[in-house]
Amino acid sequence: MYRTTIGLEIHVQLKTKSKMFCRCSNEGENAPPNTTVCPICLGHPGVLPVLNAQAVEYGALMGLALNCTLPDTSKFDRKNYFYPDLPKGYQISQYDAPIAINGFVDLIFPENTTQRKTARIRINRLHLEEDAAKLLHAPDAGASLVDFNRSSTPLAEIVTEPDFQTASEAKYFLQELRLLARYMNISTADMEKGHLRCDANISVQLLENGIEVTTPISEIKNLNSFKSVERALEYEGKRLYEEWTSGSDAIRKRTYKITVGWDDVQGKTSVQRWKENAHDYRYFPEPDLPPSRMSEEYREELRMKMPELPTKKRIRFAQEYELPQADCALLVESQALGIFFEQAVSELDSWLDTLHADTPDTRTKGIKLLSNWLINKFTPLLTESRVSIENNTVTPENFAELIACLVTSEINSTVGQQVLAEMIQTKQSPKTIIKEKNLSQVSDSGELEKICTAILEANQDAVANFKAGKESVLMFLVGQVMKEMKGRAQPEAVKELLKAVLTGK
Ligand code: ZN
Ligand code: MN
Repeated sequence: MYRTTIGLEIHVQLKTKSKMFCRCSNEGENAPPNTTVCPICLGHPGVLPVLNAQAVEYGALMGLALNCTLPDTSKFDRKNYFYPDLPKGYQISQYDAPIAINGFVDLIFPENTTQRKTARIRINRLHLEEDAAKLLHAPDAGASLVDFNRSSTPLAEIVTEPDFQTASEAKYFLQELRLLARYMNISTADMEKGHLRCDANISVQLLENGIEVTTPISEIKNLNSFKSVERALEYEGKRLYEEWTSGSDAIRKRTYKITVGWDDVQGKTSVQRWKENAHDYRYFPEPDLPPSRMSEEYREELRMKMPELPTKKRIRFAQEYELPQADCALLVESQALGIFFEQAVSELDSWLDTLHADTPDTRTKGIKLLSNWLINKFTPLLTESRVSIENNTVTPENFAELIACLVTSEINSTVGQQVLAEMIQTKQSPKTIIKEKNLSQVSDSGELEKICTAILEANQDAVANFKAGKESVLMFLVGQVMKEMKGRAQPEAVKELLKAVLTGK
């Protein structure tokens, strides 16, 4: 048996208009190689960096979303190392005076997925830095190519305390971090595009003769999906435990951490670097950028820009709309979906009001139905037609009208789905579609009775079976009537009517 202790370092690519220290476009990933460059981001000698105010704002906003303190003073430092993707020979980063410190994220894990139900993950710091260029290895050409478009792209690096106990906790945190970055509108935070990159530190604790011992740390690099973060951490934890218990002396004597790379195809890690060289960077203050001061007015300005964050929103949805935790989590998963939901709820309220169906019970049921239809019917239809909720043509008002028609039994669920599909295609209101296609449920019992009688006439065998005591044929007859009515009747009402005719009551 063993425990794992995990900490994460995450790089978030900020979606500013221009780069960190020059006016080059920050959308170089969509441009031909080496076209969004200038002497500053190419690292020519003698040029002067100018700090991007939008990058500072985005970093500070993300810091607030992580419940961090924004210190009065922050500054930039040079982190010295040589690599072909770093022409200056140093990266401008923040070392001992980052823009945000001492935060936390409260996590509520999905049920039955982790041992702990909740966890508070402490954030050590968030600092700003510039990205390096991109190396493209072209073995066929026998060369490596450099694309400097990415050089000096603004990044926020977030460092957590080692507060994760399992690989899945780390995965959930990353997903929450992506959501926060999107709520704050500071990054697309797409892992597949490299806009959210994660390195993970892991050590293993176990009991030896009743005393807890801990293995050296492994730092895992190259994690580019949520799944690989979870898999790599599980793999490396097990590997550390096995190496320790195999009696190997090397791991017990090691005093530094190793860097390992994750191979997603082979499903294993391999050692990339043995020596810990974090102290070899020779950090020193960037002489070309003065320390930045943050005023209380500026902090207040930023606080005013804060949207309601996912954690709060989930709790509020659960309380205000009496929805299950899992549904609230889904509705909050996209900011646009949550907004659509709340607008539709307020429209539904006015519909129920006009229909004089606004009792608390009807409202609760209506909201539950609205949320179910939004999650289980509407969203899949949009995904199918590759439309996002932001760009879809169905308004919250029309969606609420559809739900009102369902609540008041004007249409049933089968017809509702037909109407919804039609709404997406034609942009028409549900009432118009129901009227034009004559989809309203038949409340006229005369028409329903006529059809029931006709069905019984046509199915004499079934009628005989029913009279002989085989009651299960009733559902077959209900099905026949529903088919004839094209779904415009309520199955329960049909069943009652057929029963009455057959038993003569
Ligand atoms: Zn530039
Ligand atoms: Mn970094």
